[in-house]
Amino acid sequence: MIKPFIAANWKMNKTVGEAVDFANSLRAVLTTTPDRDVVIAPPFTALHAVAASLKGSDIALAAQNMHDAEKGAFTGEISAAMLIDAGCAYVIIGHSERRHIFGEEDEFINKKIISALKHGLKPIFCIGETLEERESGITLDILQRQIGEGLNNISTDDIGSVVVAYEPVWAIGTGKTATPKEAEDAHKFIRACIQMFYDAAVAEKVVIIYGGSVTPDNIGELMAEKDVNGALVGGASLNSESFAKIVNYP
Ligand code: PEP
Repeated sequence: MIKPFIAANWKMNKTVGEAVDFANSLRAVLTTTPDRDVVIAPPFTALHAVAASLKGSDIALAAQNMHDAEKGAFTGEISAAMLIDAGCAYVIIGHSERRHIFGEEDEFINKKIISALKHGLKPIFCIGETLEERESGITLDILQRQIGEGLNNISTDDIGSVVVAYEPVWAIGTGKTATPKEAEDAHKFIRACIQMFYDAAVAEKVVIIYGGSVTPDNIGELMAEKDVNGALVGGASLNSESFAKIVNYP
């Protein structure tokens, strides 16, 4: 049985003060989270301060992106070692906004995943089809390509540290959630791909979470699906009460 995994992606929102206030109030609302993994991903500037606020709690810290290189002339970029140093346990890699706004491709995403794992950071690896791809009937081809290329050269030992986030691009920030069946069909297919690339025992344990307009109102029905192991939450994670309601879905 996979422990439900709920992560907040704040994107480019919140100052250091706002992020720390959120972390403190989330700690107060989530007095204990023994049966759920809870992760928050503030912007880079707030990571260190939020790590201090979360010390001693069960809430883990994630970054929203990283570069694969160890160090050097990459102005504006952050390495895996720097994220570990700032207190992160996870890093979001391949978010659709990185892919579509910043032109990140599968090969680069794969390099980042390899670097994250090498440093002991757990990747939250995002995949998902655009509306155009869904309407053209190529959703499964896109998912298979993103998984195959994104996880290229990741060992059977390491794959257990990767969280896969299925985020249909048409559902992100649009208020248009995938139906529970659409999410389940995609998650089942993702698990089958992992089984094909690794084996059944590995696939059974991989955490596959759904992202795309998750709210306190729809989290329960999504989590009722067999292969939906959690959620990556954008807009509805910006308010600590709303995020706490999602974490504490019945
Ligand atoms: C996201 O950006 O990962 C996301 C799922 O956003 P939203 O919940 O706002 O759709």
